[in-house]
Amino acid sequence: MKLEQALEQSAGAVAVAIAVAVAAASGLRAQTSPNGLTIVGAQVADGSGGPVRRADVRIAGGRITAVGMFDLRPGDTSVDAAGLVVAPGFIDIHNHSSGELTGDPAAESQVAQGITTLVVGPDGSSPWPIGDYLQERRRNPAAVNVAVMVGHATVRRLVMKDDYKRPARPNEIAQMAVLVDQGMREGAVGLSSGLEYEVGGYSETTELVEMAKAAARHGGIYMSHIRDEADKAFDAFREAIEIGERAHIPVQISHIKLGTVNVWRRSADVVRLIEDARRRGVDVTADAYPYNAWSSTITVLVPDKRYDYPPSVEKALADVGGAANVLIVRHTAHPEYEFKTLDAVARERNMTPIDLFIQIVRDGGAGVVCTSMVDEDIRRFYEQRWVMVASDGGINTRHPRGAGTFPKVLGRYVREQNWITLPEAIRKMTKAPADRLRLTDRGRVEIGAVADLVVFNPNTVVDRSTFSAPMALPIGIEKVFVGGEMVWDRGRAGPGRPGVAIAGRP
Ligand SMILES: [Zn+2]
Repeated sequence: MKLEQALEQSAGAVAVAIAVAVAAASGLRAQTSPNGLTIVGAQVADGSGGPVRRADVRIAGGRITAVGMFDLRPGDTSVDAAGLVVAPGFIDIHNHSSGELTGDPAAESQVAQGITTLVVGPDGSSPWPIGDYLQERRRNPAAVNVAVMVGHATVRRLVMKDDYKRPARPNEIAQMAVLVDQGMREGAVGLSSGLEYEVGGYSETTELVEMAKAAARHGGIYMSHIRDEADKAFDAFREAIEIGERAHIPVQISHIKLGTVNVWRRSADVVRLIEDARRRGVDVTADAYPYNAWSSTITVLVPDKRYDYPPSVEKALADVGGAANVLIVRHTAHPEYEFKTLDAVARERNMTPIDLFIQIVRDGGAGVVCTSMVDEDIRRFYEQRWVMVASDGGINTRHPRGAGTFPKVLGRYVREQNWITLPEAIRKMTKAPADRLRLTDRGRVEIGAVADLVVFNPNTVVDRSTFSAPMALPIGIEKVFVGGEMVWDRGRAGPGRPGVAIAGRP
């Protein structure tokens, strides 16, 4: 593999010369797969974050066999990619499709975005046993590759059964650690937690440290939906860092956000907190989805569940910046409210937003889209090298992020608003998550890497999914290859199911 290392270290003409030499001398690869496919005329964004460069990319036997300028070989197929960008396939490190892949192995809404690898089992909730899940994925492969985290809440339920509404006792913690150890041995790539949710929320920090130590012994990461993304977000960030420090484990903060008015515009403080930890040697990274709103039922706005108690409702609306930030998208009792804000309907009806909220809940509740973050914070997070792109969505997600995340970043944040450069956005979608998961032969366009690739038009790529049409597919993703096989070709999913189950290294 010396040539690959040389290629990584060199640049420009030298890299091209080596690529040509490897392509010419690659007799062994030619024997295993005489006919290759060459993507011709593209700009390559190789995942490193370095500038895009004009290069052809040859695929054979499921791997990238040449990158640079070379003559097409007899028998090879060529794909004209003039004006297009070739990048590593996107790796979605926070994806909720663990169950859906069985019924939708083509995973159209995922490959249409350029995603080639899903990391499932986030937020503390995972399939179990891990070994069986990965085996099932091998028996019934999907179009995309799958890796899995072991869920903290999942093992917590296995040990504590229904008696989980309390801190775990030392013997229970020991049993949970054994299960995390088992999950990691069976191929999980890390431990996930969801500390804002029902089961995980009752755990104390020490319990999480012990679980994380078990994952760390197998080289896994600790990935967390932290305990609070609202007023107490800073305590929650500190806890995640503490777990990393005490368990000596890399920490990935899931869908990093500041979700209430009291913490809005404090992303610079979050960045400082995390950079301080990184300087101390704690390996903290994060991922973010490119949306400033969530969609759910109107009742989730009120954490204390007192939906007809005016002070609770008042606090709930104030937390999200007021009733103008709550868009009603479904209300069966009064369809005429739909696609108006709570504020607008209240004005029309001469009510206070608080009284209207209470009335809507009495009338059967409503589906709402709630703007709860500010773009300024999302932008500052994406500007950090240690923040990746992830969807927090998946197949059939009723939020536009499930079908739009990656094209949205490329179309809106890169092309239209210039928040980050194209090579940096691609790095956040490819090499950064691959390195996080120690996937050394994915997330990069280089000789010897697995041929998971996306070919897209940088001038047109954009999401089309919205809160009223969350499944609408993006445009501009021209071709997607998984293991060298085309799974997406200009608006159509291919018949192949080349995805593999990626097991961590025990
Ligand atoms: Zn989450």
